[in-house]
Amino acid sequence: MTMETLEFQAEARQLLQLMVHSIYSNKDIFLRELISNASDALDKLRLAKLQDGLEADTSDLHIEIAVDAEARTLAVRDNGIGMTREEVVALIGTIAKSGTAELLGKLKEAKESPELIGQFGVGFYSTFMVADKVELVTRKAGTEGHGTRWESAGEGTFTIDDAPDAPVGTTVTLHLRPKDEDDALYDYTDAWKLKEIVKRYSDFISFPIRKVDGDEVETLNSMKALWARPRSEVTDEEYHEFYKHISHDWTDPLEIINMKAEGTFEYEALLFIPSRAPHDLFQRDARRGLQLYVKRVFIMDDSKELIPDYLRFVKGVVDAADLSLNISREILQQDRHIQMIRRRLVKKVLSTIKDLQTANPEKYATFWREFGRAVKEGLLAEPDNHKPILEIASFASTEGTEPTTLAAYVERMKEGQEEIYFLTGESRSQVENSPHMEAFQAQGYEVLILTDPVDEIWVDVVPEFDGKKLRSIARGSVDLPKDEEKPEPEGDFGPLLGFLTEKLTEQVKEVRLSHRLTTSAACLVSDADDITPALEKMYRAMGQ
Ligand code: ADP
Ligand code: MG
Repeated sequence: MTMETLEFQAEARQLLQLMVHSIYSNKDIFLRELISNASDALDKLRLAKLQDGLEADTSDLHIEIAVDAEARTLAVRDNGIGMTREEVVALIGTIAKSGTAELLGKLKEAKESPELIGQFGVGFYSTFMVADKVELVTRKAGTEGHGTRWESAGEGTFTIDDAPDAPVGTTVTLHLRPKDEDDALYDYTDAWKLKEIVKRYSDFISFPIRKVDGDEVETLNSMKALWARPRSEVTDEEYHEFYKHISHDWTDPLEIINMKAEGTFEYEALLFIPSRAPHDLFQRDARRGLQLYVKRVFIMDDSKELIPDYLRFVKGVVDAADLSLNISREILQQDRHIQMIRRRLVKKVLSTIKDLQTANPEKYATFWREFGRAVKEGLLAEPDNHKPILEIASFASTEGTEPTTLAAYVERMKEGQEEIYFLTGESRSQVENSPHMEAFQAQGYEVLILTDPVDEIWVDVVPEFDGKKLRSIARGSVDLPKDEEKPEPEGDFGPLLGFLTEKLTEQVKEVRLSHRLTTSAACLVSDADDITPALEKMYRAMGQ
């Protein structure tokens, strides 16, 4: 094949625009992104050899940084898996991630929140913050013939060509922009600066990162697996950078969780709760799961077996000592040890959140705002965990504007109140204005306001909290504790009720007198075991 000039996909072009006009104040991170990609490529090569029997020399997997100050170039090279020509076009020329277009739309509106962009790992494109031309030369391991050269100035197009002599792996060469006279404190050709960036962002990378200067070679990183080090020896910044490496998020995590189990089945885990929900939290095809290592060797990304779906936002690493390096996804699903680890991780995550409630209410509030909707799915998925999940849940309520926990609700319950009252609906105002609310409001009973779609479903499978029944005030005849001041309706309503029942025979089962209203004349209620109107609507929308 010969040289072709191709256009970036529309979304990729938009993203590049943002990069070229440098919406980040911190440009140093371009190096972190290149090293992160190189490290991934080395992991992939080692894995392909291990699991697919690919013939490859993996005796000296490493990353090299080479600088030419005069030519103003900086090259990052790895001897990892490499890419085919098709892969280069697909992986570098487009952004395949779902939700990209939508996110770009949001980005344009919200100019002041560029960290939004970090949600879809724009990694490679960040090189255009510091370079006005980027070359990538690569050859896929295990392929015959020539490699591929890709080149772009980040403007709408790129060229792609054969590279006859390319070694296996990938070299990315940046042609650095002219020195910026305004902040000429350093330059990306400065050895000390590169060292500092590597130390700060990439120290934990498990392959040597070597700075090559003529014959001089210096390894810049310590290569220590972060999860294997005692927490007291690791700085928050190191944890944060590691989190960014594995999550492709650009903001610091909300919470860090270390775990270590010794004995018959040994493992270490380092988990992170992000501080923000990813834009694709509710998209089916989104990436989820943890990284699995076996004795420090990376085995696979996105191991869904290690964490249930409702905690899919949790990121991190599990390093198990006693698994086979060849373990496949199919085997993972059935492995008893993996299931045990998963149960322990769930327990630990839930208890960590619970601790936050008292130790750091603000963090807890952020957590629940960002991830509560997902966590509530756990009430459907894991009946055994109803209690710990309900304990960390909060709900809007007629009492105040802040969400309340169930424990706090129970504490406020009025004398004689036996049940936890709630009403589901589409929005707070809709629920507040529901006629069902009237009597409860009038008598000062607090009612939880549940407006997430998932609320309609879990309330049917969760019977109680702390011995108190959860009770929809829209269903059946709720036994409001008797209100002494409210008089019984006077007169004979028999004929009226008979008349109405007959008239409405197609629409309702029964017309009856009620205590639940104060100002409205009538309201619709469902039987205790009927589905709620909102749920009915949801099922209809799903075509059921
Ligand atoms: P991300 O790393 O989040 O996937 P990037 O923009 O950093 O996004 O990289 C896009 C893709 O290009 C990577 O997923 C990978 O498949 C490929 N890629 C980038 N750099 C390399 C490399 N050094 N070796 C092999 N593949 C690479
Ligand atoms: Mg990347």
